[in-house]
This record gives sequence, C-alpha cells and structure tokens, in this order.
Amino acid sequence: MKKINMVDLKSQYEKIKSQIDERVLNVIESTAFINGPEVQNFQKELADYLGVKHVIGCANGTDALQVAMMALGLKPGDEVISVSFTFVATVEVIALLGLKPVFVDVEEGTFNMDVAKLEELITPKTKAIIPVHLFGQCANMEAIMNIAKKHNLYVIEDNCQAIGSTFKFSNGDVKKAGSIGHVGCTSFFPSKNLGCYGDGGAIFTNDDEVANRVRSVVNHGMTVRYYHDHIGVNSRLDSIQAAILSVKLKELDNYIKARQIAADFYDKAFENIEQLETPARYSQSNHVFHQYTLKLKNVNRAKLIEYLNSKEIPAMIYYPVPLHLQKAYVEFGNYKKGDFPITEELCDQVFSLPMHTELDEEQLKYITTAVVEFIKGI
Ligand SMILES: *Cc1c(COP(=O)(O)O)cnc(C)c1O
Repeated sequence: MKKINMVDLKSQYEKIKSQIDERVLNVIESTAFINGPEVQNFQKELADYLGVKHVIGCANGTDALQVAMMALGLKPGDEVISVSFTFVATVEVIALLGLKPVFVDVEEGTFNMDVAKLEELITPKTKAIIPVHLFGQCANMEAIMNIAKKHNLYVIEDNCQAIGSTFKFSNGDVKKAGSIGHVGCTSFFPSKNLGCYGDGGAIFTNDDEVANRVRSVVNHGMTVRYYHDHIGVNSRLDSIQAAILSVKLKELDNYIKARQIAADFYDKAFENIEQLETPARYSQSNHVFHQYTLKLKNVNRAKLIEYLNSKEIPAMIYYPVPLHLQKAYVEFGNYKKGDFPITEELCDQVFSLPMHTELDEEQLKYITTAVVEFIKGI
C-alpha cells in the first residue's frame, strides 16, 4: 500500500508533470516573472470558471482578505462579523487593520456561520460580514446576503477552502462559492483544493469599481505609475504559480470528484457507528471536501489519533482552540469560555482524516478499518 498522507501532492504532480514542467520552464525562458502573460491568462480562466467579472491575483489568501477589506474602505473601529471556528487568518487581518472582530457561533451540523444568531450582533458600527465556507461547503449565503442587504453591509466570502463549491438559491439560481458576496477571497496554498507550488491567492468581484480599487491596493495604492492615491500593499501572484494554477484549474472538477468519492467511502464505512458523526451535507451547497471532518461522541480523541498514528495513518484536529479563546483575540470582546457553545464543543470533538485527490480504495479501507477497530475496542 502507498504511504498515507494527509495530502499527497507528489502523486498528483506526477500525473500532470509534463504539462507543469513545460509551462514553468516557459515562464523561466520568457523571464516574465511578475505580472506576465500567465498571470493575465490565469486570472481570465478563473473568472470564467467562477462566473465572475474580475479576478485579481495576490500573494496568499490572508492578503486577499486584507486587501478586500482595504479596497472596501473599512476604517479603524468598524465592526466585522465572522466566526470563531476557523483558521486564524480571517480574524487576524480584521484585527491588523484596526477593525473590531465580532464573533458569531456556528451551526452544529455544517460548522458554518449560524445565520439565526447573526442579526442580533449588528450595531451601527457593523460594516461587513465574513462568512467562511469551512471545509469545502458554503455557508448559508442566501440568508447572509438578505441580512447584509437589509442592514447595508458588505459581504466578503472567505472561500479559501471551498473553491469550486456551488450554492443553490431558493429561486433555483446556482452560483459558485466566492462569486456571491461583494468580494470573494481564496488561497492557493499547496494543500488547498486548487493549490499552487508555493504561496498564492486571489480576490474576485463583479463590481468594476471594487476591482479597480483592489488592483490599486495590491500595487502600493497606485493607479498611475509612481502616483499613490492611498496606502496599499505589495501582494502579487507570481507568473510561475499562475502557470501551474492554469494547468491545475483544468483538473479542478476532477479533483473535486475524487475528494467526494473518498468522502462517500468514509460516510458509508461509518454510517452505523454511533460514536462517529459524519459531516452534514447541506442541501443547498455541494461539499468539495477540503477536509473530511467528523465529530466524535464519547471517544477519547487523543487516544484515537495516537492509535491511528501508530498504524501510520495521519489525523488532524481542525481546529483545537476557538479564536475567541486564543490569547491574541480575547481582548476584542472580553470573550470567555461559554460564549460560543457550539464552537467550543466542536473544538473538543472534531477530527479530520486524510483527504486528497489521490486516495485509493486500499488506503481508504485501511483507514476506515482502523478507525472502526479502535472505536469497537477490537
Ligand atoms: C488557508 C486559509 C486562509 C489563508 O490562506 P493563506 O494562503 O495561507 O494565507 C484563510 N482562511 C481560511 C479559511 C483558510 O483555510
């Protein structure tokens, strides 16, 4: 059996090696390393794939979120609502810009923003909502957009984990994750569903004015060369990474299918195990399984992970500590234990199994057998 990894980028690369190598070498030969034709080309391809008007590359997903907030003109003291059950980047850039992060709890089944608890948090200072499409499944974008419209708020989608996922509105409209809010942000970190071979990110929008503003912010606040209208940053997607992404974008739907097949296998293997709660699939969004994350009921999580590791099966906890209880973020709302019960419960119960495009049936059988064996005490 092939060695099991959380993510297997090597086997994936081997299948597209000749195309990748050729495109990368072409960039090197051309020396168009910064903002070259490959960047323009990929931005257009991704815009077509997502069905958005503008895609602007940047250096990583964290920058994408920061740039989005800068481009929308958010000012120190403004409040931004997001979740506590996520990767730190979302909230980190809110705080870095002098904005105030306001947390909302998540839904027990989907792990996404609980829209029923959203409206009560809105104050005259609230300017934006940042839903995170966690683990590959869209938050309830219909409800979020309705609330945002009613209160005149921006919606910035953190789409770092859900590129390629779709959301179906009650009127039948289907849109790609990241194309629904005012701005969408993604990361091309190697292990993401569309990953490059280093760091990369992108910002998407249908709004021409916001797009122009984003283009200026990522380029030192410059519209005309050496004239700086506002404070910006330096955040670029390298041409070499764009070339790699262009090859991989063509595979993205196949990659998603492979992840879903692996997820179906896990679901089926665990369906009758009452100590394991398999990930809820929201009927309005197709789940692209950036992670396969289960909830454990009355199982010693540390021991289970130790057991799996002893059989050379990696397993991870995304995420062990909620952001509202992290040292760096408690001060923002004088948050304390008990403030977000679902988030806190999930941090204690979740665990993630290997999930990537190259898992084969032999590996999946080996993993699921080991998990079930541990739980049944075999
Ligand atoms: C990966 C990730 C980010 C940050 O992306 P980087 O490219 O690592 O900066 C932000 N938000 C979420 C939800 C992520 O998963």
